[in-house]
Amino acid sequence: MSPWFDEFWRVVFFTLGIFAIGLFIGYPFWLFLLACLGYLAWHWYNLYRLEQWFSKSKKFQPPDAPGIWGEVFYHFYRLQQRNRKRKRKLGAMLKRFQRSTAAMPDATVVLGANYEIEWFNKAASQLLGLQSPQDKRQPVGNLIRYPSFQHYLTHNDEGRLTIKIVSPIDPEIMLRVTVVPYGDNQHLLLARDVTELHRLEQIRSDFIANVSHELRTPLTVISGFIETMQDTPEFVAEFQRPLLLMAQQTARMRNIVEDLLLLSRLESEGNTEMMGPIEVTELLRVICEEAQVLSGEQRHEICLEADEQLIMYGQLEELRSAFSNLVFNAVRYTPTQGKIHLRWYQDPQGLHFEVSDTGEGIAPEHIPRLTERFYRVDVARSRNKGGTGLGLAIVKHVLNRHKGKLHIESVMGQGSTFRCDFPLSVLEQQEY
Ligand code: ADP
Repeated sequence: MSPWFDEFWRVVFFTLGIFAIGLFIGYPFWLFLLACLGYLAWHWYNLYRLEQWFSKSKKFQPPDAPGIWGEVFYHFYRLQQRNRKRKRKLGAMLKRFQRSTAAMPDATVVLGANYEIEWFNKAASQLLGLQSPQDKRQPVGNLIRYPSFQHYLTHNDEGRLTIKIVSPIDPEIMLRVTVVPYGDNQHLLLARDVTELHRLEQIRSDFIANVSHELRTPLTVISGFIETMQDTPEFVAEFQRPLLLMAQQTARMRNIVEDLLLLSRLESEGNTEMMGPIEVTELLRVICEEAQVLSGEQRHEICLEADEQLIMYGQLEELRSAFSNLVFNAVRYTPTQGKIHLRWYQDPQGLHFEVSDTGEGIAPEHIPRLTERFYRVDVARSRNKGGTGLGLAIVKHVLNRHKGKLHIESVMGQGSTFRCDFPLSVLEQQEY
């Protein structure tokens, strides 16, 4: 039965009893009033016990009480028990989580509003030099002072950040730092020791740079001799064709070596060298003329549509190399008298350089791999056209250094569009 039903009948019988006694002794009203005050006092008393139990009593068991108050105490007791159990469970979970993150070899830092350090693990002390408790509540920008990191903190519209930095406490340690936003204006900073990986990358790129450099001189000597022999009239006519082939192949090898050296430079050099305002329209006019020469007998229709006012900050030689690679590719892979359209324009998303052609097109499965070194859709065709297989890899590197992205669209048999997307920030002089 419901406790409220019990309580109701108890009050009814109690009131009737008091009333009967009141009638018997001749003071029904006064006795009734007294009984009401007694009932009220009993509630007050139990409320007081409940409040005391909540605030002071550390006793596990609730106070004893008859009637409805017994039920109330019992329910509170059950609720308290459930909460204690939940608290114990959460506490154990938190301890487990803290122990596992503390054991992680990667530095983990929880950043609150305004990038203040809220919590960090042991690895963060070892890799980033954070110290407890003095670094807690400090803005992380005061402790990790790198231009690109500071730029991210001040322009936090970029979502996620991944950069490579030297450890602030040991210049021998290379770190890959990732900042991921989560929750309500919070960020997680993760730092991983990539010293070994960085060393291997360095060995690989030094090896390519050294090999390319070593090949350069013998190639120059060989092509010099070939040219001399070609220019010597008394050299027998039957050797002229092999000499021509030798000249073509050495030229191809020299192009590959030059492209490899350029790629090594793009990988190793800092980004800030020789940055300046570039009149892209003027640069594109020159590339257009060169493309027309490359097209020669094929008489491609090359047209340029460019916004002359649009001047971007960047590295002239790098951009010349990237843009000309895209335009010369369009000439190479577009049949005779095909159309090539160049566009340099701005829209709310940023600045764009676009090359569209009416060439053979590229099958969709090749598109994601085109920027890999030496990746060609048709190796023989690329070689015949004088390609090195490194052009789009160079384009990708140059764009990365200018915060740009390459976007490729193509329809087989209809043509391709290669678009370089730059953020609006390249309109200003800034630190890259
Ligand atoms: P390559 O020196 O061989 O041209 P790239 O890196 O410049 O090397 O290009 C990689 C491959 O992408 C090329 O071999 C070619 O198959 C394909 N490609 C590049 N541009 C175009 C284009 N405009 N139309 C069709 N295919 C293209």
